[in-house]
Amino acid sequence: MIDVVVSGAAGRMGRAIVAAVAAQEGVRVSGAVEREGHSAIGQDAGQLAGLPSSGILVTSDLLPLLDTARVLIEFTAPESTLAHLEACARRKVAAVVGTTGLNSNQTLDLEAFASQTPVVFAPNMSVGVNLLFKLAAQAAAVLGEDYDAEIVEAHHRMKKDAPSGTALKLAQMVAEARGRSLDASAVYARKGLIGERTRTEIGIQTVRAGDIVGEHTLILAAPGERLELIHRATSRDNFARGAVRAALWVAGKAPGLYSMQDVLGLK
Ligand code: NAD
Repeated sequence: MIDVVVSGAAGRMGRAIVAAVAAQEGVRVSGAVEREGHSAIGQDAGQLAGLPSSGILVTSDLLPLLDTARVLIEFTAPESTLAHLEACARRKVAAVVGTTGLNSNQTLDLEAFASQTPVVFAPNMSVGVNLLFKLAAQAAAVLGEDYDAEIVEAHHRMKKDAPSGTALKLAQMVAEARGRSLDASAVYARKGLIGERTRTEIGIQTVRAGDIVGEHTLILAAPGERLELIHRATSRDNFARGAVRAALWVAGKAPGLYSMQDVLGLK
């Protein structure tokens, strides 16, 4: 049985992770952490996740929990993530980090901690999306530039950035599979008399509407046929399940920085 501590346990992802751990054999929540002063401190982590009482009360004191835990799952904010990774490195506890928005110095710090303890770090832990990246590269390499590449992504009306990081990564995988860079290939908008499409461009279109959780479509089309690879996320549970899969995988690994591509054996 692998004991995991969930950090950010009262957050949207933290709650989904507590529920995903409960649904998975071979792993259990041994501790739940929130920031000091959070209203969830002292509450039952299972109940916060909409489950029966688990007997694990949320605390702001991570260190004692690391004495027995094998893995920390961290979906919080960059500063707390780095502080918690430092503690994991000292105690030789593995970590699964889903926190996004780390700046370049924080990324360097994360890499330094990963040289002392195993860390899986991935801005998108969806198993399906990570497989999509691999399939996209393979398809683009096999089909070549005779097939026009277009990407369409759709998200809910509250999303602030466009195109999504996942769409950009998808475009990057296609560009690199064709020996090109994302910057040289991406076309983000078309309007007016723009002339014929070039063979090398990758069109990236954005849809924002309603409560769409996240959809990404890669179209590869040539005269006479069209291949489409589509991923649809319907809830954040898929990120949580990916994080739990990463936790099972990383326990007992050698120190190092790993990605979801490592976890899924896609490298
Ligand atoms: P959220 O705001 O709902 O939850 C974050 C939680 O972290 C909050 O409850 C907050 O109180 C807690 N927290 C802050 N400081 C803390 C500390 N020092 N110790 C313990 N807990 C602390 O946000 P969210 O939607 O759950 O997202 C959290 C992070 O995960 C964000 O960076 C988000 O971008 C990222 N995310 C990653 C993936 C992925 O697949 N990798 C998917 C979804 C979200």
